[in-house]
Amino acid sequence: MAIIGSGPSGFYAAAALFKQKDLNVQVDLYDRLPTPYGLVRFGVAPDHQKLKAVIRVYEKVAGREGLRFFGNVHVGCDVTVEELELHYDQIVFAIGCETDRKLGIPGEDLEGSHTATEFVAWYNSNPGYIDRAFDLSCKRAVVVGIGNVAMDVTRILVKDPDALANSDIASYALEALRKSGVEEVILLGRRGPAQAAFSPREIQEIGGLEGVDLIVDPKEAELDEVSRTSLQPDAKNNVEYLTAQSKLGEGSKPQKVRLRLCVSPVEILGDNGRVTEVKIEKNELRQEESGYIRSVGTGQYETLSAGLIFRSIGYHGVPLEGLPFNEKRGIAYNKEGRVTDSSGSIVPNKYVVGWIKRGPTGLIGTNKRDSSATAEKMLEDIAGKKAPLDPQKTPEAVDQMLATKKLKVVTFEDWKLLDKQEVDKGTRLGKVRDKFLTVAEMMEAIESARSAG
Ligand SMILES: Cc1cc2nc3c(=O)[nH]c(=O)nc-3n(C[C@H](O)[C@H](O)[C@H](O)COP(=O)(O)OP(=O)(O)OC[C@H]3O[C@@H](n4cnc5c(N)ncnc54)[C@H](O)[C@@H]3O)c2cc1C
Repeated sequence: MAIIGSGPSGFYAAAALFKQKDLNVQVDLYDRLPTPYGLVRFGVAPDHQKLKAVIRVYEKVAGREGLRFFGNVHVGCDVTVEELELHYDQIVFAIGCETDRKLGIPGEDLEGSHTATEFVAWYNSNPGYIDRAFDLSCKRAVVVGIGNVAMDVTRILVKDPDALANSDIASYALEALRKSGVEEVILLGRRGPAQAAFSPREIQEIGGLEGVDLIVDPKEAELDEVSRTSLQPDAKNNVEYLTAQSKLGEGSKPQKVRLRLCVSPVEILGDNGRVTEVKIEKNELRQEESGYIRSVGTGQYETLSAGLIFRSIGYHGVPLEGLPFNEKRGIAYNKEGRVTDSSGSIVPNKYVVGWIKRGPTGLIGTNKRDSSATAEKMLEDIAGKKAPLDPQKTPEAVDQMLATKKLKVVTFEDWKLLDKQEVDKGTRLGKVRDKFLTVAEMMEAIESARSAG
């Protein structure tokens, strides 16, 4: 079997396949980068190191007999899905959602208006984003969206850089944050406190930051009639916390995070091509027949001055040839993990897990259940058949296919060589890890470690 993508969902899918006893499973795990772990390495915030300990679980999976890691192989570029189909009985797509949703408002592309995706990838040393520039000289930044990614972006902007220094944050990002002039971040949420997407722990972490006041307008913290009558138990924590926070007023700490609720940006305004203001519209909430509470513009506008905007309204999948893609939802067409075409007919032997299956929601652990569910379908589909299902589809034939393409494939042992060097570099700098920045540097480091034996 081939699994494309070595983020959490890819590893959990491999783990679930190895768990069953009936088949002798052989898994090749591909990643376009030389490094495994997807967003655990390039998404999860550098000051959330404890969460990154989950890679110990993935290391165990990688050590299973029958698993091969093929890093630095971009499926769709270096190898096509069609070619992989010739070599594997089943293919699992675990490619995540690597781009962002658009706001679709005027001024979105002005200089100084960025996606959260870019900023996150930049401070986490993702090789594709290390040369991005963020002008942090302004006093006020606006973050559009109030999910957990928006919380990460906000925290990184206002947190004391000294408190990030020993993490695995990119050194250039730390340097830029040290020079940052940002004193205030305004967070914009289109609905109310009961619908806020952040988890209580994330907003409370911001409220608890040293030197930072979290300001909530008491009127905006109040529940409207619709939300009060349909308040879900899991929203209670946020509502209570925001109510308490709204009573604290402005505070006198040097950094401010201002949470605005029931507002939507309608236009980003600029001067000389650069962001200067955001026009927002006040919303009211209405309940649809389905029970969903929707925001509706009221026609009341306000303008906020800002030098920097981060749009954090959700990630979106990237189409891959050979995987039917629902552009509207930004995920692969699938029925419980089995890939389908746009009309809903099953496409044999192709499966999806993780964000590309269900969209960009859920924590790392959510992918475990989700990958196991897909693995069950895969096993159901080959139940009663004996491995190897197709004697032509051998590991050696895959090796030959990759060799003829002259790809510089990174094995898991190669990754461990890189991993050690990053940790050693970090130790010398007083950091948990100092990541390599480019693929070329990584390949060079692997080469020299290999030749040093
Ligand atoms: C900014 C941010 C912060 C987060 N913080 C937390 C947190 O604190 N706690 C938590 O529990 N969860 C957090 N999450 C959520 C968590 O990261 C996701 O649930 C999880 O990573 C999704 O796993 P995935 O395997 O579907 O995708 P990913 O982790 O995105 O993995 C996809 C992998 O596929 C590879 N790939 C893509 N296309 C190809 C291709 N064509 N060929 C080969 N390889 C390919 C990519 O390189 C990548 O390695 C965060 C997410 C983000 C975005």
